[in-house]
Amino acid sequence: MKKEKEGKNMRTKNLSKHQNFTFAASKWFKTTLFISAALMITGCSAVNAKSDPSVLKNAKSSDQEIEVHVLDVGQGLGIVAISGDDVLMYDGGDRDYSSYVVSWLRKNGISEIDQMIVSHYDADHLNGLVGALNTMTTDVVYAPDYACDTRVCNSFHNEIVEQNIELIHPKPKDTFEFKEATVTFLSPQNHSYSENNDYSLAIRIELGDSSLLISGDAEYDSEQEMVSTFGNKLKSDVYVAGHHGSSSSSSAAFLDAVDPESVIISCGKDNSYGHPHMETVKAFEDRNLDIYRTDQQGEITFTMTEDTITFKEQTAPDPYALGSKSIYQNQSGNTSQSTGNHHQEHQQDHHDEVHHNQTTNNSQPAAADYILNTNSHKIHVPNCKSVSKMKEKNKQAVNDSIESLKNQGYSPCQNCLKGY
Ligand SMILES: [Zn+2]
Ligand SMILES: [Zn+2]
Repeated sequence: MKKEKEGKNMRTKNLSKHQNFTFAASKWFKTTLFISAALMITGCSAVNAKSDPSVLKNAKSSDQEIEVHVLDVGQGLGIVAISGDDVLMYDGGDRDYSSYVVSWLRKNGISEIDQMIVSHYDADHLNGLVGALNTMTTDVVYAPDYACDTRVCNSFHNEIVEQNIELIHPKPKDTFEFKEATVTFLSPQNHSYSENNDYSLAIRIELGDSSLLISGDAEYDSEQEMVSTFGNKLKSDVYVAGHHGSSSSSSAAFLDAVDPESVIISCGKDNSYGHPHMETVKAFEDRNLDIYRTDQQGEITFTMTEDTITFKEQTAPDPYALGSKSIYQNQSGNTSQSTGNHHQEHQQDHHDEVHHNQTTNNSQPAAADYILNTNSHKIHVPNCKSVSKMKEKNKQAVNDSIESLKNQGYSPCQNCLKGY
């Protein structure tokens, strides 16, 4: 089916094996007449502006890319992945959000779910899927095999039976194709968990060199089993935090194996469970992950291609929301004088592609040593890919040393300033 792309233009164009330019333009970028094209080289990228309007006008989801939407469903989880005209839906949020999820699908031109995955039968994951089953055509449903007798479970099973939908209880290592990507089930590996959450179907989506891991509400026991079965094969670029960022999930061994660069936490604002738990966010911070949160930023959207992952422009989450200021203190250390030359060289190599569209609010002079994120308190070199994702109001260009910036409470980005 077709899908509206208005305001969500993202496109990756492969220019050669070693040069991949990701063109990302959100509404926000457009309204400020600032179009950025991130230049992906050795983990860092240049903020460029390419003024070829055809690149953006023709943008549409191709079979070679996956657009992933982690919906804002409050305290719950709901994910829609779109590749070409195929739709994969993983969970759908709780009852209060069921009609929102259905209208979201409709608004995006979706009337058919090609593959639906029920992580587990808890209401905050299942309700919206029942809404989708009610209103859409669904080809295949993957769900865990454990007894459930709640009202929403009964509605779910009635829909499956009435519509004669194929219901599959997958085993770990089972796979299916989602356009060009391969989806592998990682769990559950057991039939007698004490927690329903541990029955969650965890999946890993792999498209070329790009990968995404979603573990539903899987907790410690299931995570340990995944680690012992799959080990480093769990390695994924993006991780949707298990159980809404609860400390009962995202255990150290699991995070070591998944070793993501970005983590997305789906939870409700001021939820009664205290999700995400402070120690979990701290663990993500300690690993220098880019953290995205639906409670603070709403829907989180990114595009995967075979070799790039591009997050849509989003407000940076407030790392102080949990009162965990101490994580930015005690940055003792290393007094190395960085000039950022390494990255400037890259920028010069591609000078031809670099044009800065002047905006009325351009806070990024080309001569700046570093760009600060005044919200997340990170230091980046000007051409780091994170800079292209940053809100203009949080950007501050500075000519200063890393040491001095550290003393002001800033910490170096672990992508572009690794080792400082
Ligand atoms: Zn849940
Ligand atoms: Zn649950």
